[in-house]
Amino acid sequence: AIFGAERRNSQGWNLDIAHQAEPFFAGQARFAQTQWLAGPLVGGELRTPGNPVTVVSPQNHNESVGQVHFATVAEVNEALDRAQQAFPLWNATPVEQRAAALERLADLLEQHKDELIALCTREAGKGLQDGIDEIREAVDFCRYYAIEARSMMAKGTVLPGPTGERNELFIEGRGTFLCISPWNFPLAIFLGQAVAALVTGNTVIAKPAEQTNLVALRTTQLAHEAGIPVDALQLLPGSGAEIGPLLTADERITGVCFTGSTATAKAINRSLAARDGAIVPLIAETGGQNAMVVDSTSLPEQVITDVVHSAFQSAGQRCSALRVLYVQEDVAPRMLELLKGAMAELSVGDPALYATDLGPVIDANAQHKLLAHIEQIQQHGALIAQTPLPDNAEQGHFVPPTAVEIQAIDQLDQEHFGPILHVIRYKAEQLPQVIADINATGYGLTLGVHSRNEGHALRIASAVKAGNAYINRNQIGAVVGVQPFGGQGLSGTGPKAGGPHYLTRFVTEKTISNNI
Ligand code: GLU
Repeated sequence: AIFGAERRNSQGWNLDIAHQAEPFFAGQARFAQTQWLAGPLVGGELRTPGNPVTVVSPQNHNESVGQVHFATVAEVNEALDRAQQAFPLWNATPVEQRAAALERLADLLEQHKDELIALCTREAGKGLQDGIDEIREAVDFCRYYAIEARSMMAKGTVLPGPTGERNELFIEGRGTFLCISPWNFPLAIFLGQAVAALVTGNTVIAKPAEQTNLVALRTTQLAHEAGIPVDALQLLPGSGAEIGPLLTADERITGVCFTGSTATAKAINRSLAARDGAIVPLIAETGGQNAMVVDSTSLPEQVITDVVHSAFQSAGQRCSALRVLYVQEDVAPRMLELLKGAMAELSVGDPALYATDLGPVIDANAQHKLLAHIEQIQQHGALIAQTPLPDNAEQGHFVPPTAVEIQAIDQLDQEHFGPILHVIRYKAEQLPQVIADINATGYGLTLGVHSRNEGHALRIASAVKAGNAYINRNQIGAVVGVQPFGGQGLSGTGPKAGGPHYLTRFVTEKTISNNI
């Protein structure tokens, strides 16, 4: 039997089919001008302390999306107290009730998809397909973890033991989880972390990325509407540098789930280790230096479709995205010609338009860093192709999709989180060195392999340290329950979101041996 084969993932909406596309676009139009408001959501109340910050669209500095109030120390403290106090009751609530709340939330997400996708587009600059994929993944996380939690936590497991003694193993929540989520999946990862912690009995303090508080707020409100108690899930918008250390140093936080940069994950780990009191677990999913290895038996058209998708979808702002393409030398000229052609076809622009392939990057800081990298890397290599930006690109944070040929992966000092593809040619006899070089980066998130030689492809997939290896397909867009997602080494502590063991990271176990 195939594990989980009876569960069905969310179907989404197909914009190529007119009868699905028309209501979809009408729904987007309804939220094209909306101004949202976010702030700390503490005890179910939206607080508006201090001076709000205006949120503008990454694609257009003149387009306001709303305002955000950042949490002050007072909200942080109140939220932590409430979360701590709410834990015993929520943890003692039958898992069935918690799971049912997640399933109601999945339905609410689908019902509110117009608003949530508009938020993803306007606040985070994500494309329409990306927005659809966010809803689908968030819905899938809710339904998948609901099923997993039921089977994991419904009752204690009775273990064999001597006559007269009853040995039982129980699973329960750990306390209050701090969930720190990234702007690149402002709905799916934000919610995936929170619902995993909640369904296993923990209370949650959610600290969304500074760039995407509006979508986090609406999602949290929907979770409350679905029946998650207001003190079990609270939201604290704020600057990571300011409230992050306050939260990680606080003893009321008994677990941390983080997705973001490797450097921040290490800083959180240090802060947790420096505390007095209990040893606190960290679930971290971080960056990658993801490679694809293409050999001369592969099918060039398929390779290029998958390369473009893996490197440039979501403007390359996925931790799974392809960064370094290794092409076997004898097929490289043809592959690079096809790549140039495909990149010339890409359309960069307003993410809310159906015809757009790539939107902006998240903010000015990201844009400047990526443009500087494009400048700098050309000292080590040759530009292969660069897709032109539209005329009005200076209104937003756009970075042209760029492919550059370099000599070795160690010319990249770090992950470059945007639409930049590095290409390296290799000779067949250099393959062991290619594998060693990829592993030497220390990251281990995604790997792509293109080859018609199955044994060869599988050998590469098993020799490269990676959490997710993909053969003869693109290497992004892991599907809940199908491709459990997460890396190793510099890429994270190894949990697999959307996989059958993920929830075990959020719980504690207790054995009761009863000599009746
Ligand atoms: N799960 C996503 C994917 O497979 C990437 C998540 C991330 O960027 O953090 O594309």
